[in-house]
Amino acid sequence: MDNRIHNFSAGPAALPLPVLKEVQKDLVSYRGEGLSVMEMSHRGKTFDGIIKDAEDLMKEIMGIPQGYKVIFMQGGATLQFATVPLNLLAEGQAADYINTGSWSTKAIKEAQLIGKKVNVIATSEDKNFSYIPKKFDISANAGYLHITSNNTIFGTQWSNFPQTGNVPLVCDMSSDINCRKIDVGQFALIYAGAQKNMGPSGVTIVIIREDMMEKSPANIPNLCSYKTIGSKDSLYNTPPTFGIYIIKLVLEWMKSVGGVEAIEKINREKASLLYDTIDATDFYTGTVEKDSRSLMNVPFRLPSEDLEKEFVAQALQNDIIGVKGHRSVGGIRASIYNAVSLDSIKTLVAFMKEFERKNG
Ligand code: PMP
Repeated sequence: MDNRIHNFSAGPAALPLPVLKEVQKDLVSYRGEGLSVMEMSHRGKTFDGIIKDAEDLMKEIMGIPQGYKVIFMQGGATLQFATVPLNLLAEGQAADYINTGSWSTKAIKEAQLIGKKVNVIATSEDKNFSYIPKKFDISANAGYLHITSNNTIFGTQWSNFPQTGNVPLVCDMSSDINCRKIDVGQFALIYAGAQKNMGPSGVTIVIIREDMMEKSPANIPNLCSYKTIGSKDSLYNTPPTFGIYIIKLVLEWMKSVGGVEAIEKINREKASLLYDTIDATDFYTGTVEKDSRSLMNVPFRLPSEDLEKEFVAQALQNDIIGVKGHRSVGGIRASIYNAVSLDSIKTLVAFMKEFERKNG
């Protein structure tokens, strides 16, 4: 196992072992060039090939239709919370948001912070964000509708995305991008911090329909302008080169294992194993309504907080890391992103059964 631990961290999170090994092999001298990717010019031929490959592979793996651009930005998904309204809202125009948890709440607050008008057309806050709202009316003149496809902290996930007609659909896919096949054509803009399914922190992937790029006003910071960054193919300034290189390797790994369809199949198997274990006993309690359960983040509770503490401590002794729930909600959370193997899930499930046997 190369001394690898079973990593259920919420992000930064597990990366595929073949990717790490390839990085290790090429770290000191990338393909015999005598320097690492970290040390080479972002305007040189080699890096140019890497970033183009990353964009092309992203289009191929995700099935991105013609007329979309993939760009690499900085500032995490958090900067996108402001960047989206800065670019897409015309003077005086409001945007619709659906609030499904802490990250959507932050996206809403950030839009308001920069003086934009927001309509929260639905929220699941009434039941501690344990479900995805099904009923809402989209405002006909909204600049866009913003949703968060997967709620990393609460463990809910949209299974069917809303039909928005002429209103552009914007989605924060930070914690489930490429975990399953989706129709990118439904979206005007998708953004995702890389550090869960795609690579290291420090790079934000933005998939934008080209007509949306035209909306960027001239009087916003260049590094927040989709038009500026997009028209310069993510090379307006020095991009996070090493992170983009890793994204390319992760996409190559995805391709080598059969693409997003194959990964989705394994993800469903992984999630079922865990949810079935939770549902089979009263010792573990899932916190999310069944039809809103996430394929990526599986939160659950034990009978007491003391037992939860003990669970986390004993998990660590069994080479299982990262299962403590987010500090804002407590409990246990297993994040089972693409690079977390079925073998790791089986190890966790065996540990859960043993822990219950001893403490139930
Ligand atoms: N959105 C979602 C769904 C997230 O899970 C996170 C981070 N966990 C963020 C946004 C914030 O991302 P970042 O730390 O890259 O700004």
